[in-house]
Formats: sequence, C-alpha cells, structure tokens
Amino acid sequence: MPSTIVILGTGGTIAGTASDPSDNVGYTAAQRSVGDLLAAVPMLAGRPIEAEQVAQLDSKDMDHATWQRLAQRTAHHLSRADVAGVVVTHGTDTLEETAWLLHRVLAPSKPVVLTAAMRPATALSADGPQNLLDAVTVAQMRGARGVVTVVAGNVHGPADVRKVHPYRTDAFSSGDAGPLARVEEGHLRQHRDWPDGPAMGLGRLAVDPAEWPWVEVVTSHAGARGGGIDALVAAGVRGLVVACTGNGTVHHAVDAALQRATHAGVLVWRCTRCAGGVLVGDPALLSPAAAMSPWQARVEMMLGLMGEPPAGG
Ligand code: ASP
Repeated sequence: MPSTIVILGTGGTIAGTASDPSDNVGYTAAQRSVGDLLAAVPMLAGRPIEAEQVAQLDSKDMDHATWQRLAQRTAHHLSRADVAGVVVTHGTDTLEETAWLLHRVLAPSKPVVLTAAMRPATALSADGPQNLLDAVTVAQMRGARGVVTVVAGNVHGPADVRKVHPYRTDAFSSGDAGPLARVEEGHLRQHRDWPDGPAMGLGRLAVDPAEWPWVEVVTSHAGARGGGIDALVAAGVRGLVVACTGNGTVHHAVDAALQRATHAGVLVWRCTRCAGGVLVGDPALLSPAAAMSPWQARVEMMLGLMGEPPAGG
C-alpha cells in the first residue's frame, strides 16, 4: 500500500507572519517554508511525509507559470508508486481557481488536498496547523481521490468550493451542495462521493505560460458601459466571461458590446455574479459556464482555448 504523503508549499497566509500575535490581518503572507509548517504539527512527526516548496507567494498574485509548475509537480508525485496522496498549502484568495485547474487537468485517482489558513502562522490561535493535519488525514484516507479542499474541518469538492468570507476562519462554502465531507477528530463523515471527471491531461498546460490565451472576467452592473469590453477586444482578448446579474441578464450597453465582441471572434460565456446558485433555463440554450463561478469559468475557457489549434494552423 502506498503511504507517503507529499506536501507541496505555495505560500499564502498559512505561511504568513505578523510581528504582533494578536494581529490577524496586518501580516505578510508566504514567509514560512512548507518544512516549517510541517514542523508546527507535532502529530505529523515520524509519519512518511515529504515537503517540497513549489512557490512562495501570496495567492492574490497566483500566476500561470506557478500553476504550470504546481500541476507538473503534483502529477509527478502522484505517479510515484509509494505516494498515497498530495497536499497543497495555498493562499485562500485564489484557492478555488487552483482547485478547478488541477481538477480539470489531472482529475486524479489519488487524493490532492488543498488547504489554507485565514490567520498567519504567528497568530495566537492560528488555524493553519489544524487545517494541515486535517488535510493530511484526508490525503491518507483509504478510498479518497480527486481534488478537494480541506479548511475548518470541511471537505469541499472542486466544482462547489467558493471563498465566501474575507475574515472568518470558516471562509469556504460549497453553497447549496454543502461540504462533501467533514473531518472530525481524525475521522471522516462523508456526505457525497469523491470528485470524478475526465482529465484534460497535463499536456494541456505544456504551452509557455506567457502564451496562455488571454481570458478576462467582465461584470454587468447598474450604469454599465460597453467601452471597457470594446477596449479589451481591441487589445486582443481571446475570451470574455461575463459575471451577469441574476439569471444571466446583462445591461443593454454591455449586451451591445458583447455582440460586437462575438462578431470580432471573441468567445463569450455567461455566468451569474450571484454568490450562490446556477443559471437556470433550457439546458440546450445555457452557457457552458452556467454552473460555474466567473473565476472557474475563466480557467475553463482558457483551458478550452489551449486545446484548440493555433489560429491559421
Ligand atoms: N492573500 C492571502 C493569500 O491568498 C490570503 C490567505 O491566504 O488567506 O495568499
């Protein structure tokens, strides 16, 4: 039985430090190494765990080169016969985007568990060590598979996970679906099956990150104007994800600009800017992003465009 767990560090608040232990917001993210994070959880000592620093950044600054490297290192370790699962320590801000990317590219048959913290490692009551322990627990769980997020005792699937709070330690939600499982004192209370899905394959990310297709998220709102969309099209954007009002509606000025964008060959998908729920209507007419957040849809569209032959080729 494979038993090794590999922890890949990418930075975030879980690796952050502040000069004042009572300060939960005035800290610098991505200061402690993944080895230090592991050492802060004494219960993990002596277990077959390896730690590797893939990046050291605040996840608000997550970039395509880091995604490429993280996906490659994750796939590398998953392919090892002795590895049971991979844990990724990550910032909370863009965690759901990374989860979706890894899910769509790898859809692994072993567990890949993303974890994070809302308080820095120096906090009086830091949440990172417990989250890391829970993440390793899930990664070691027999039968576990797929890309999941473990924060505050909740296990979220990659399709549903959203950061819904800027401050509370329980900052993630799976919305209407609810968490896939809960980790309670080292035991898993599972509500739904592990995530599955066809993998696009790591080859999808083989392109130089500087060449990944440019896809932007635009929003419809009161008083919206179409000039920003026209400027993006003129600047060479390949795709637009529209965070629409309600059930996929857009301001008439945005609608006119989107029609001009479509006419110019730009791919346009609609999803809702509402925090919960999905677009509802005739499935045949709905956008491919109907059930996605705008940020997930951006990843999905970009991956789709990366699978297309280059223009003129
Ligand atoms: N800005 C931080 C990050 O995403 C926030 C966090 O980790 O909670 O890396």
